[in-house]
Amino acid sequence: MAAPKGMASRQTRQTNPMMKLFADYHTHTRYSHGTGTVEDNVLAARARGLKQVAISDHGPASLFGVGVRNLATFGKIREEVRECNARYPEIGVLTGVEANVIGADGALDVPGPVLEELDIVLAGLHVTVMPASLADGFKLGLLNALRSLDSRLGKLARDLNTKALVEAVYRYPIDIVTHPGLRLSIDTRELARACAQNGTAMEINTGHGQTTVEFIQVAAAEGVDFAIGSDAHQPSRVGDLEAGLELALRAGLSPDRIINAVHAEDDLPGQLWRNLPHSPGRKPVPRRRNILRI
Ligand SMILES: [Zn+2]
Ligand SMILES: [Zn+2]
Repeated sequence: MAAPKGMASRQTRQTNPMMKLFADYHTHTRYSHGTGTVEDNVLAARARGLKQVAISDHGPASLFGVGVRNLATFGKIREEVRECNARYPEIGVLTGVEANVIGADGALDVPGPVLEELDIVLAGLHVTVMPASLADGFKLGLLNALRSLDSRLGKLARDLNTKALVEAVYRYPIDIVTHPGLRLSIDTRELARACAQNGTAMEINTGHGQTTVEFIQVAAAEGVDFAIGSDAHQPSRVGDLEAGLELALRAGLSPDRIINAVHAEDDLPGQLWRNLPHSPGRKPVPRRRNILRI
């Protein structure tokens, strides 16, 4: 009989001499375009042995039914997360979002006061979003679509993409920038510098297969931290983080540079601190000490 899904992952996590991962902060549910419920993702994360999982559905500007219907949806998600936290005390469940950058000025599709209510904020650039304005649609949409026609357009698109993300990192309490450089080219070094200054992690994404060792090394040189995320759109992929762990090891990252990793020999405390650095009432203190209540 074949080993159950996730078995290899658990074994790798337990036997990896360097580090183990305890959380998946990037998972989607039916509230955006995932296939599982909040509880399905929680149970999948628990089966993988994770101590934390975040529900981080797409913001409302995602087109074609990919995003949450409206901002009120986060209230529904929060209610289900609260129930799961009560039902499954062995795992900490976070209410989050993968917000869309919709403006060249870094505007997100989820306003600041709503973000403040969430436990964790992820944000990223996506191709199919409703821009904040026509001008933003030109800068972030059309230029990217035309970039292959002319190298100057490519450079301009890259600069605008980078600037939009950098502005967002300065404007909003973003914990993790998702899949930097996926389909929309960016200046890794510049984004990493902004993230490092704001205590924002950059994602090593295992869902799209686009993260490279070189990307990690270039970003790491700027002092930024990382988060390894599955970007799971179905429960079977929640906690599927091994490819990211391998990339991180090949890039020479130590676990103290990864917000969801600890040294292999470290025990995880039973009680997890549910607030990340950017949660309500947060103080800008070193992230590593914020993830777990030790
Ligand atoms: Zn995404
Ligand atoms: Zn995602």
